Amino acid sequence: MPYSCKDMRQLLQTTTDYAIRYLEGLETRPVAPSLEAISQLAQFNEPLPEQPSEPEQILRLLDEVGSPASMAMAGPRFFGFVTGGSLPVTLAANWLAGAWDQNCGLYRITPATALLEQVALRWLLDVMHLPAKCGGAFVTGATVANFTALAAARHAVLERVGWDVEADGLFGAPPITVVVGEEVHPSLLKALGLLGLGRNRVVKVPVDSQGRMRPEAIPNLTSPAIICTQVGNVNTGACDPVEAICQHAGESSAWVHVDGAFGLWAAAAPSLSHLTAGMEAADSWATDAHKWLNVPYDSGLAFVRNTSALRAAMAVTAAYLPTINDRRNPSDFTPEFSRRARGVEVWAALRSLGRSGLVELVERTCCHARRFAEELQAAGYQILNQVVMNQVLVSFGDAETTHRVIAQIQADGTCWCGSTVWQGQTAMRISVSSWATTDADVEQSLAAMLRIAEKCRI
Ligand SMILES: *Cc1c(COP(=O)(O)O)cnc(C)c1O
Repeated sequence: MPYSCKDMRQLLQTTTDYAIRYLEGLETRPVAPSLEAISQLAQFNEPLPEQPSEPEQILRLLDEVGSPASMAMAGPRFFGFVTGGSLPVTLAANWLAGAWDQNCGLYRITPATALLEQVALRWLLDVMHLPAKCGGAFVTGATVANFTALAAARHAVLERVGWDVEADGLFGAPPITVVVGEEVHPSLLKALGLLGLGRNRVVKVPVDSQGRMRPEAIPNLTSPAIICTQVGNVNTGACDPVEAICQHAGESSAWVHVDGAFGLWAAAAPSLSHLTAGMEAADSWATDAHKWLNVPYDSGLAFVRNTSALRAAMAVTAAYLPTINDRRNPSDFTPEFSRRARGVEVWAALRSLGRSGLVELVERTCCHARRFAEELQAAGYQILNQVVMNQVLVSFGDAETTHRVIAQIQADGTCWCGSTVWQGQTAMRISVSSWATTDADVEQSLAAMLRIAEKCRI
């Protein structure tokens, strides 16, 4: 029997119904999947079928077995990691762009997706107050955005000392001094490793009580050098003083990179922009769209002031084929050549939110975070960080008690938070990043947290 899809319309409509029912169910289902749902996943463990099956049957299986075993990350009360949900307009755009099935590398072949990315890039730089002429890349997440921007950095700092790293690699190249803060995100170290710059040969600069790099502790540097700063510590939300670091770097012409996986979005909000003030003096920036912008996975962004350094690092044909300015070839700027149209979702989010909607989304989630901190503190629990952004660290007592409370909160299912260790102290981390979280969700989650913590106290 040859493979066919007899009724595509019916298949896609049924799937839409499954998806809508799933999303509507997130309000009331426990956030974590039940043990029973997880045990049902064994049904997927079958040998490869010898014969084709009906597409309808495949989607039914996915919905019946897969949906209940998913974590309700798309819902309003998932506060683990820094995730965000998907704005409905971005999920819908994702569906339509999926149907387009464009291979988004070249303007000439896929003008719609290439132009939408170009427009989204312009809007992003505008809303984050970054230089309008930056080059940009739509990649899978902040790990790859860091990788992409740091590849441009590697190119530029070695070019200045007469070395062509794309052509000749790092064998025999002048060594680059790479500086990070003690609180660097582990994924940035991974990016450095992928670039041949080494995860361990970095210079680690001490940080303050909130995890901010201390600029006066940065050693004097000689070229070639790269300083990796961070805007939005994944535990505290704190931001490195990028402006002061750039001043320090200026003396050695070191390249300053900013990992702002979620924190970069603070630059868009007037009430938070003091946290990122002066970061536009840096050379490159990485952020996620799948965190605070609330678009579907996977979606990250790299911005590089020196567009030609980014192009030199990423284009297949190096600098030989200049992109005509109004016809940007996306693949000149990304590690990937063929890829999906993830910029369409970014465009849809920004087009739908507008500047004020984005600001409101960022400020509202921070407001929820402050509410969590205030009420937990009022109930006698210790807040370990200054709640400057959307991250809250709470301790329920000693490490064992805190772990017990977290496990029971996860099992209870009203909401979901994970554990972390902040400067030696075990904590529960609450990250409010989803567009879907309302005041009522915060109240409901607080009630569950306080009820469980009180019970564990005795
Ligand atoms: C989340 C995060 C990353 C990694 O981002 P991915 O999208 O998971 O690749 C890097 N740095 C910081 C500060 C983060 O918060």
